[in-house]
Amino acid sequence: MHIGTMVWRIGDRLEVGEQLAWIREAGFTGVGFHASAGVPGHWSGIDPAACGSATRTRLRHELQGFAYRELHAPFAIELRAATLGPAMTALVPVMELAADLAVDVVTIHADFGTAQAPHAAQGASPRPPASGPMAQPNVSPSAAPAGAPRPTREPDTATASQDAAWRAAMQELDAWAGRMGTRAVLETIDGFEQVQGWGLARVGVNLDVGHMFLPSGRPRLAAAGGLGLLIRSLGTSLFHLHLHDVKDETDHIELGTGTIPFADLAAALQDTGYGHGATLEMNPDRVTPDGIRRSAAYLEGILARAASGGATPAAPGPPPVTPVGGS
Ligand SMILES: [Zn+2]
Repeated sequence: MHIGTMVWRIGDRLEVGEQLAWIREAGFTGVGFHASAGVPGHWSGIDPAACGSATRTRLRHELQGFAYRELHAPFAIELRAATLGPAMTALVPVMELAADLAVDVVTIHADFGTAQAPHAAQGASPRPPASGPMAQPNVSPSAAPAGAPRPTREPDTATASQDAAWRAAMQELDAWAGRMGTRAVLETIDGFEQVQGWGLARVGVNLDVGHMFLPSGRPRLAAAGGLGLLIRSLGTSLFHLHLHDVKDETDHIELGTGTIPFADLAAALQDTGYGHGATLEMNPDRVTPDGIRRSAAYLEGILARAASGGATPAAPGPPPVTPVGGS
């Protein structure tokens, strides 16, 4: 499994090229970045509208050394039953950028409207970020594009006509991804069975593991029987992972400092033969560059233990002396 991290902001590094250099130097074999200009002073991405052919050629070259490249569609684009058409239109510049930069996987937020947010009527819990690792001060949370009708959320599962609309749109996205030489992954906390049911080669799930441990994701996670069973049930429809840890309701923190059972994740990935990438999504206000490195090392250690059947890999150097009599 290739481990990457997201271009966003790394410590004080805002410029995309500087972040790419840091990511490469830190030993990551994958990389993710947003198809967005970002927020000045807070985070940076690659804005398709401000990225001419010369820049694309340079970026493509800079990105060549990575085993995988992930492009994150803007947060304002969210696939929903009622706005699939406008969202697909809004994806045009994203998919073109993906083709130009030889992107392997395009992450798109999706909401199937079947997950019940238990806190929705309480107002006590913060709305979980339908997003990446930082708040989005200048991005409307409504579905894209502006002016599109806001769907009314049904209290139960999507209707048959919605199912048909989803299937038709995702078949179109699948063919489109094929033409662009990429794959599309839906970052969602619900609708997994629907994605599996489509059986598409180029449209799958990007499981943001941390989001499943927030209030909105926990009921779905519990219904699946926990993280390991969810991963196993996703099987080959799981195309990508976003990883960060969660403590209480604070997400996008350093791996190993929260409550996510990464050993369960690693065991399930081992069982299903997962061979795709995992992008760390670290909130730069909560995780230092050293914390990003530690997160990768923590994950590698856990994956190695899972690969060796759960045994602790032998440490380098002389074997430890077994204390006589135990302790
Ligand atoms: Zn994510």
